[in-house]
Amino acid sequence: MIDWKNQIDSNVAVLLKRVADCQIELGTSDLVINQKNVARKKSELSKRWMTLKKNKKEITEEIKPDIKTETSIEISKYRSLTGHNKAICECQNCSLGATRTKFVYGVGNPKAEVMFIGEAPGRDEDLSGEPFVGRAGQLLDKILAAIDFSRDKQVYIANILKCRPPNNRDPQPDEMATCMPYLREQIRLIKPKIICALGRIATQALLDTQTPLGKLRGSWHEFENTPLIVTYHPAALLRFQKYKKDCWEDIQKLKAKYDILKQE
Ligand code: SF4
Repeated sequence: MIDWKNQIDSNVAVLLKRVADCQIELGTSDLVINQKNVARKKSELSKRWMTLKKNKKEITEEIKPDIKTETSIEISKYRSLTGHNKAICECQNCSLGATRTKFVYGVGNPKAEVMFIGEAPGRDEDLSGEPFVGRAGQLLDKILAAIDFSRDKQVYIANILKCRPPNNRDPQPDEMATCMPYLREQIRLIKPKIICALGRIATQALLDTQTPLGKLRGSWHEFENTPLIVTYHPAALLRFQKYKKDCWEDIQKLKAKYDILKQE
C-alpha cells in the first residue's frame, strides 16, 4: 500500500492513482512505481502549475475590479484609460472606422471630477486625434478658465463617437449605439462627480430622450448615478451669440455643485 500523501505531492498522487485504477480495471495485479518517472512527472506538473498561476495572475490583473468605486454601479474591466484606449483604438465596429484619420479617445485628467462630453470629432480633431481643439475647443478652454478649470486638471473631455462622421454630419443613432459602450467604460474608469453634456446630440444620447436641449437645460439630470447638467455646444455658441448667457448660467450652476461636492 502506497502512502500517497507522505511520499509524493498530491498532484502526482492523483495522477498515479488514476493510472493504477485504470491498470487494475484492465486486470493488472502488480504495480511498479518508477522513482525517476515520478520525479519527472512532478517537475512537469510543477512547470505547468507555475505557467497556469502566471497566466491567471495576468488575466486577473487586467480585469481586476477597482474596489474604490462608490457611485458607479458597474465596474470597469480595464485598469486604466490607457489600457482601454489601446484595446479599442483600431475599432472598425461601424463605417466611421474606415473614413477616420485619427481615433479620438479623449483628453484630460484621468481622475477628473468633471467630465465634458460632446457628440463627435470634427475636422481638426480628426487630424490631431484630440477632442475639442478647433475654434470650438478654444472657446471651451476659455469657458473652463472662467471658472478656474483647465483641461489637464479638473476635467476630462470626450465625445460619444470616437471617429469623425464625414463632412461633420450628425452622428447616426446606430453609430452612437455602437460607440456608446466605449464612453460608458471611460466614465466607469474616470468616475467623475459631475458630467456636462455639450449640445443637443450628446444630451439626447446620454439622457436617452428626444426632448429639446432648451427644455433640458437649467436643471440637474443623472447618467448612471452621476449628476449631469446640459448646455450648448461651444460650436453653437460661435454661431449664435444669444446662447452665451444661458451657457454661462449652466456653467456657474456646474461650478456651484462642484464646490459643494469638493467640501463633502
Ligand atoms: S465611431 Fe466608435 S464604433 Fe464606430 S468605428 Fe469609431 S470607435 Fe468604432
